[in-house]
Amino acid sequence: MPLYETESLVLKSYNLAEADRIVVFFTREHGLVRGVAKGAKRLKSRFGSTLELFSIVNLSYFQKEDRELVSIQSVELSKSYFAEASDPEFLNTFSYIADLLMAFLPPHDRNETLYRMTKACLEIASDSPERLACIRFYFELWLLRLGGYLPDWSRCRECRLVFAGKVKAGLRSDFQLVCQDCRMTRNSDFISSAHIEVFHSVQKYSPSKFLELTIGIEDTVSEVSGVVRRIISQVIGRDLIAEKSIAVNYQQH
Ligand SMILES: [Zn+2]
Repeated sequence: MPLYETESLVLKSYNLAEADRIVVFFTREHGLVRGVAKGAKRLKSRFGSTLELFSIVNLSYFQKEDRELVSIQSVELSKSYFAEASDPEFLNTFSYIADLLMAFLPPHDRNETLYRMTKACLEIASDSPERLACIRFYFELWLLRLGGYLPDWSRCRECRLVFAGKVKAGLRSDFQLVCQDCRMTRNSDFISSAHIEVFHSVQKYSPSKFLELTIGIEDTVSEVSGVVRRIISQVIGRDLIAEKSIAVNYQQH
């Protein structure tokens, strides 16, 4: 049975039997990994507080070839977000991000770009907790882009006109944009140049630069975020944010 070692982020944990837990990790080297932590529920567990949500840890585990669930050997804490997670808004935001990762990523599929991006979002949220909504939006948009689900908002889907200057585009049901001349229905949502700019600046800039650029235009960010969330719901076939029990469930652990 080979032993694997990798830096990981703790996404979620469930109780299993009397003393054990199942822990979901987002690993840098092997993507999503679910493992059994033997005795983790005991008071004097060898895992200590390493399995707290959103901890960055060095994980080692054994994996049998035919099993998805791995056997956790050791977990060493590298960085804790325990203090930050006592803020319900932080907890909610990152529980939602963890749920998105679990919905989007196939098990044991390496995605280092997304791993580094998730870690960067945690770091910046720790520094700027008042900007959680913008950080969440940044993550959502990149998740769609890396998965190949992001529509092209640079030009009209019908006549291929490139959007420049002041525009008032229409949003189609497939989330692509059409220019005013091609707009088919009167009641479709409008997308303005400010929306398009926010959409593109996520893809151009680092999370910290993006936060800097969106100071004072949080409402515009929130409107684009609404569209991005509708795309996410369509991709995963359900509305994660509407599952309001998320925060409550996490707090029970
Ligand atoms: Zn057009």
